[in-house]
Amino acid sequence: MAVIRFLRQFALLLGVAWLLVPVVLARSHRQLQIYFIDVEGGQSTLIVTSQKQSLLIDAGFAGERDADRIVRAAKAAGIKQIDYVLITHYYGDHVGGVTDLLKKIKVGTFVDHGENQEDSDATKKHYANYVAAIAHFPRVVLRPSQGVPLKGLTLQVLAAAGDHITDPLPGAGEANIYCASEKQPPDDTSENSRSLGVLITYGRFRFLDLGDLTEQKALELVCPNNLIGNADLYLATHHGGYPDNPRALVWALHPRVVVINNGPRKGGNPQAWQIIHDSPDLEDVWQLHYALDSDKQHNSAEAFIANVDDKSDGHYVKVEASSDGRFRVTNSRNGIERNYGK
Ligand SMILES: [Zn+2]
Repeated sequence: MAVIRFLRQFALLLGVAWLLVPVVLARSHRQLQIYFIDVEGGQSTLIVTSQKQSLLIDAGFAGERDADRIVRAAKAAGIKQIDYVLITHYYGDHVGGVTDLLKKIKVGTFVDHGENQEDSDATKKHYANYVAAIAHFPRVVLRPSQGVPLKGLTLQVLAAAGDHITDPLPGAGEANIYCASEKQPPDDTSENSRSLGVLITYGRFRFLDLGDLTEQKALELVCPNNLIGNADLYLATHHGGYPDNPRALVWALHPRVVVINNGPRKGGNPQAWQIIHDSPDLEDVWQLHYALDSDKQHNSAEAFIANVDDKSDGHYVKVEASSDGRFRVTNSRNGIERNYGK
């Protein structure tokens, strides 16, 4: 009898195990992955869809270091090529890494905001290098409201080359109560202000990446009416700079998680950090580096920082999102992860 009972329980266990397998597979299959790669104060963000299509937003600085880190993230995500590389703007910490990247991994199409309009030697040189590097690749210039055809998610351009959307996104457009306390920002015609800013929507999950969009253009997107709506995940614009992350922008987005792609001594401004930290509904701020020029009160706890000292360079922050809006953030340095519900 004991043998029969054992066999029956064993069969029951097997049955339960088989039931669990498809659930686990289904969960991992429908995940969107986002890697915030450490390029020491530039940007490089790798997005991989549940169907293994990929988009890289910016390529970091010139040199092997950042290209190697991007390739490492691509391997971790299980992809051998990058389908789209989107360049937000033509400063060296965003476009500089394109030439080295192309030596290390296959790329499909380049996406950007069009001709460089900044009359500075450095930017003209970065742009010329970029154009030469991608001469034999398909190139698409995007304007506000346009997007990139990725299956299963929507990428919509909100700002490009100094222009921005003028109609609110579906469900957005409410008057923004935080605009009244913002001062009139100075005119900005820098290349930062021409950044390609995008909203990525995956089911109920919304991720906002504005590149290095600066105060004036950032405010135009949310004042007097918030044209964007909410964002579950917000990559702090301009590496967490101030005044480029004004209250009327950050608080109106109601982000649950903010990632700051700062370097050890770039971005991660204490005033911007405080605005982000105090944002209604905010649960956590994750940083790519401990901001050495700030202080302990204006840095997150070490668990939420990918690189805390000179010995820990190159760790990334990873986000895995489900289409129901839930997502998980992992620190590749210590494996610490947090789950965010809907
Ligand atoms: Zn930058």
